[in-house]
Amino acid sequence: MWRASVLTIFPEMFPGPLGASLAGKALGTKWALDTIDIRDHATDKHRTVDDTPAGGGPGMVMKPDVLARALDSIPKDDRPRLLMSPRGASLTQARVAALAQGGGAVIVCGRFEGVDERVIAARQLEEISIGDFVLSGGEIAAMALIDSCVRLIPGVMGKPASGVEESFASGLLEYPHYTRPQLFEGLAIPEILTSGDHAKVARWRAEQSEKLTRERRPDLAAQRPRGENPAKPRDSKG
Ligand code: SAH
Repeated sequence: MWRASVLTIFPEMFPGPLGASLAGKALGTKWALDTIDIRDHATDKHRTVDDTPAGGGPGMVMKPDVLARALDSIPKDDRPRLLMSPRGASLTQARVAALAQGGGAVIVCGRFEGVDERVIAARQLEEISIGDFVLSGGEIAAMALIDSCVRLIPGVMGKPASGVEESFASGLLEYPHYTRPQLFEGLAIPEILTSGDHAKVARWRAEQSEKLTRERRPDLAAQRPRGENPAKPRDSKG
């Protein structure tokens, strides 16, 4: 079973939102979650996990020895060992899909100013960011990562097909969605979607996806493999 092992000083935050909805229903049958309280691996009576930064400056730094002991308490297996970190490589849907296909992940949640650099090296933690902004701790980032993986595990989502067409699956943003009522505040559903012509619907959606991606994420559009990149955008006049 796919297993996330989360190292945190706030184990009570889990499963939190991961215990609700489809991911929550599948927790324990399609995937497993355990938390390791980093504080359990402190050695002093105050259960200290942090100390002042060498070289001075504000805040505190997570101690390498305590975190290393917490990591070493997890039996070694071939799951990747990740550290949630704003300095890490940006999480992508491709990485999420690869992680979802593996055995799970060991995920360290930083707090304070972050983690002593030496434990990152000594335990070969791979730093992963969920975006160019700073959270107060790695827990919400870990939840985002776990949620994105769990929904790709076979049997977790309602319809297996829904993972295939959505944003980023083919390097594109998803086409727009509509549902009833047919008229909402004077705005109608695009006629083609109610025409019953499946081929036309598919073509319209593909065009919308490409248009949206070019407009909103030219960086993604530029990354598409040759041939999948329409030579000339039909609807933009430069
Ligand atoms: N001083 C650090 C920020 C520390 S934030 C810096 O400037 O880089 C505290 C913890 O929150 C981090 O150790 C990390 O585990 C988590 N965190 C914050 N922002 C994150 C992000 N964008 N992605 C993943 N984890 C993040």
